[in-house]
Amino acid sequence: MALGGGGVGIVGLIIYFVLSQLGGVSTGGSGLGGGLGSVGSGQQVDNSKLSSECRTGADANKNHDCAIVAVVNSVQDYWTQQFARSGSTYRKAPTNFFNGGVRTGCGSATSDTGPFYCPADSEVYIDLSFFDELKTRFGAQGGLFTEAYVLAHEYGHHVQNLLGTSKKGTGTGPTSGSVRLELQADCYAGVWANHASTTPTESGKPLITDVTQDDINSALDTASRIGDDYIQENLGGGQVDRSKFTHGTSAQRKKWFTTGFQTGEPARCDTFGTNNLG
Ligand SMILES: [Zn+2]
Repeated sequence: MALGGGGVGIVGLIIYFVLSQLGGVSTGGSGLGGGLGSVGSGQQVDNSKLSSECRTGADANKNHDCAIVAVVNSVQDYWTQQFARSGSTYRKAPTNFFNGGVRTGCGSATSDTGPFYCPADSEVYIDLSFFDELKTRFGAQGGLFTEAYVLAHEYGHHVQNLLGTSKKGTGTGPTSGSVRLELQADCYAGVWANHASTTPTESGKPLITDVTQDDINSALDTASRIGDDYIQENLGGGQVDRSKFTHGTSAQRKKWFTTGFQTGEPARCDTFGTNNLG
């Protein structure tokens, strides 16, 4: 994944850390590798500092924190333009990066929750330790595009909230609303990946100049590690219980990301209107 020209704005991006309760021990190094990870307990990252650090695509190529900012901006630029094409307005959602725990409009959350979107306050919450866990616990390859997939999936939930789809995501089981909602968010992540290198920023040029087959493979590898069946089999009790599915199987998650990526069409992500979830 290469990041190119244009400025990296941080409008709508809030980055702060709530460190885990380890007597003030810094969790530096977790997730973002230095940089943001070295922020002290309870401190909030100074957005203006980040803004001065993350000005160009070159900054994003050098600095992982800036690359994450670039991905968030690219995802939101895509949806801004896509909503405008269909005659509606996309409202940008802030991203909160946290470590340990965080208070949200949906209540308090710990790292056990992993990354999530809160429809009540329309904000994305990214647990930075999850990026590490994807590698250490789930066995994923890791890398920037793994993180990009996670970010784009969460913004997919924001899109669903704006479109009024979120409330359909209820229940558990292989054909539940929850599974359909999650697979649609995967599909939306794929749609963004399709457009990532052709979506111009406000400066007129795309921020991301290239999405490679390796990038897509690392997203698919990640998807295959966070399917309900994979988690139940490898990280749970070893038994697959389909009645408890909330996100879909690994195969389904790969299928819907791929559908979004290959078509580039949000309309093709109609997981609620199909009998064939894969
Ligand atoms: Zn989700």
